[in-house]
Amino acid sequence: MTTSRRMLRLLRYMLPYTLQALPAVLLLAGVGLLEAFRVLLIGPIFDKVLEPHSTASNIPLIPRWKLLQNFSLERLMPHQIHNPWTMVAIALVASTLLKGLFDYAGTYLINYAGFGMITDLRDDLYNVILRRSAKFFSGQTTATLLSTIVNDVERVQYAMSAVMAEFLQQVFTFIFTAIIVVGLGGKLAWVLLIFVPFVIMSATRIGRSVRRTTRRGQDKLAEIQNVLHETIVGNRIVKSFNMEKFEARRFRDAAKRLLKANLRSVRAQALSSPMMDTIGAFAIALLLLIGRNAINKNYMTPGIFLAFLIAVFKLYDPVRKFAQFNNNFQQAFGASEQIFTFMDAQDDVLEEPHAKALKGFRDHIAFEGVNFAYSEEGEHCEVLKNINLEVRVGEVLAIVGPSGAGKSTLVRLLPRFFDPTAGRIVIDGHDLRELTLTSLRTQIGTVTQEVFLFNDTVRSNIGYGQPEISQAKIEAAAKAALAHDFILRLPEGYNTVIGERGYRLSGGERQRLSIARALLKDAPILILDEATSSLDMESEALVQQALQNLMEHRTVLVIAHRLSTVRRATRIVVLEAGEITDIGPHDELVKRTGTYQRLYNLQFVDNAEQEKVAG
Ligand code: ATP
Repeated sequence: MTTSRRMLRLLRYMLPYTLQALPAVLLLAGVGLLEAFRVLLIGPIFDKVLEPHSTASNIPLIPRWKLLQNFSLERLMPHQIHNPWTMVAIALVASTLLKGLFDYAGTYLINYAGFGMITDLRDDLYNVILRRSAKFFSGQTTATLLSTIVNDVERVQYAMSAVMAEFLQQVFTFIFTAIIVVGLGGKLAWVLLIFVPFVIMSATRIGRSVRRTTRRGQDKLAEIQNVLHETIVGNRIVKSFNMEKFEARRFRDAAKRLLKANLRSVRAQALSSPMMDTIGAFAIALLLLIGRNAINKNYMTPGIFLAFLIAVFKLYDPVRKFAQFNNNFQQAFGASEQIFTFMDAQDDVLEEPHAKALKGFRDHIAFEGVNFAYSEEGEHCEVLKNINLEVRVGEVLAIVGPSGAGKSTLVRLLPRFFDPTAGRIVIDGHDLRELTLTSLRTQIGTVTQEVFLFNDTVRSNIGYGQPEISQAKIEAAAKAALAHDFILRLPEGYNTVIGERGYRLSGGERQRLSIARALLKDAPILILDEATSSLDMESEALVQQALQNLMEHRTVLVIAHRLSTVRRATRIVVLEAGEITDIGPHDELVKRTGTYQRLYNLQFVDNAEQEKVAG
């Protein structure tokens, strides 16, 4: 996307704040006008107040410029106070007060609009990211996403609030002061035009390099956040492998890369002030030379020349700042690149415009010739090949197979975390792609190996997605999940905050909470990924019992690692290298030779002993 399109897109976010932005622009225009007006006062101060008897006092305030020729302070004031000091003093104080007032209100309003639009932009970005498909998340690190939502948005925010307020003020100061410069200086003013191309050229070149270097800096910041995020979340692993030194070095290296990128950006930015200063010094030196002749020839008074020169200085200030503004805006555009890239990413899992709502689950789920690959690189990357499978309502279907066979992938297709690359999945006769995502996912409950809990109360974690649910229902779910007793033992019972990812709970307790959550969701279809890591026997027995309660009256697809589960299953699917190689009930499969036999001996017999003891 080009810079101008990105700019337009950002400005579109400003539209809802027109009511604040427009008055702000007018108020800041007023500030510029009053700022310029105060320069006009320098002529009379110098020629009339400080030297009231000089011949210069007869020279009109604005000597040459026809449009402004009729302007005089005398016309603005009642005749009783027509003495130079009072007029100048009143004008000075009044214009300063008014300018202050406009400045305050204008700055507040433009910041209001800027912060408002950024809040909307951040909301939109978060909403879009939240809805992105699973593929999007596997392609991004958490830190990159966080960095965009926090740092990149922050850059844009700074440009659209503080910088925008200052920018508008300076633009109007520039415009009105330029009018004064031309009015006071006449031909002398046009000398300044010589310098315009130099200013524009240097500002655009510096701006371009600032944008590039800022983008690089933001990327390096994301790198740092990546290291931080991984090592904080995985702190126990870092400790147990004694990797503190290694991780510290990794962090230092990333920090050095950020430092380098930041310095490069600072170098690009710091160039603008000296460049503008030099151009300014040349301009003023040239003006002094020409101005001296003009005064000698009585073409203008020293007071007017001084006012002219101060106006030029004033002009020079916005020009110098424009380079900085340009840098800030370029930084914002650099940062917005990543924001819009995330917003525009094409999702692979889309909802059809006229998708139907799935109302309950009555009959069957069918995988019909399903193929699936995570990458788009062709057949040899296929994780699932020609899967044909029917699951009837009420059935418990166990999926077994060696590690990497595609078991998890198979069940991920059902809630449409991914879509098949070929074939289709049908639920009660509807292709999943014809259904709304919400209605489909409402019918499916999930309990995974890796339990994810929020840093919130036990109550909110069990009732996740159902904020209005009653305490009685929460407790009933907790009881069925055999979690009620341990919850009551927690310091604040159901109101205990369980820490990030539920770290304040044991593994078995976490699992039972997630089972309670699934129980409360009460979806007719259940996807279960049995934990491979075994808990202590008592805990294991509780989890098994809780799962048993959860599976009752539901259609279950379970990735099985336990003998009890495969025994209980209606049918077992054996998945090998992405293909179904056998299917049938346990008693039939053990009689057949092959993978199931091997798996049975390796995986299930092992924990059969354990289950006997626990059971
Ligand atoms: P396990 O029993 O070890 O959990 P599994 O049978 O569940 O294994 P899957 O997790 O479905 O296996 O993985 C099947 C294949 O797909 C593996 O080769 C894995 O490397 C690959 N894979 C899994 N997830 C992704 C992903 N997000 N992106 C790319 N490839 C993936």
